[in-house]
Amino acid sequence: MLTISLRKLARGPVDLAGTVDLDEEPWTNTDLAFREAPAYDLTARETGDGVVHVTGTLRATLEVECRRCLTAVPHPVDLTIDWLYDPGLEGEPEEEGVFPLDREAGALDLTPQIREELLLNEPPYPLCRPECEGLCPRCGTNLNEDTCDCEQETGDPRWEQLYEQLED
Ligand SMILES: [Zn+2]
Ligand SMILES: [Zn+2]
Repeated sequence: MLTISLRKLARGPVDLAGTVDLDEEPWTNTDLAFREAPAYDLTARETGDGVVHVTGTLRATLEVECRRCLTAVPHPVDLTIDWLYDPGLEGEPEEEGVFPLDREAGALDLTPQIREELLLNEPPYPLCRPECEGLCPRCGTNLNEDTCDCEQETGDPRWEQLYEQLED
C-alpha cells in the first residue's frame, strides 16, 4: 500500500518498501507499460507544522516503443525521491517536488506522485539503438532485420541543386 496514515506518522517516521501491484487501480488504467513493476523504498516523516517529507528511491523498468521500428524497448528508471507535502499549500504548487496535503483526509496517498514521476521519466524519443534503420515507409519491412525492393526516397531534388550551388 502506498498510503500512509497521518496518525501513525505523528508518532514517528514511517518506512514504506515494496513493489507496486500493477493489477490494481490506477495502474491497470494508465498509459505506462512496464517490463518490471515499480519498486519503492521510501521514508515519510513529519517535519513540523504538519508538513510531511518523503525521501527514498523509486526504480522501475518501463517498456517503450522505438519511434523508428516500433520494437518494444526496456527503459530503466532509477529515481531519488524528495517530496514535501504541505498542508498550508493552496492551489497549484509552484516549487518542484512540493504538493498540497489534505490533513483531513487522514492519510497520504503517494500513488499519484509515483505515477506522475514515471510518466515524466518516459523518454520523449525512444530508440532501440541510435542507428536504428526503422521500417520501410512503403512496405513496413523492419530494415534492421531485412531489406526490401521498394525504391527508397532519394531526397528532394531542390535541395540537391542548392547543395551543388553551395559547393561551387
Ligand atoms: Zn528501432
Ligand atoms: Zn519496402
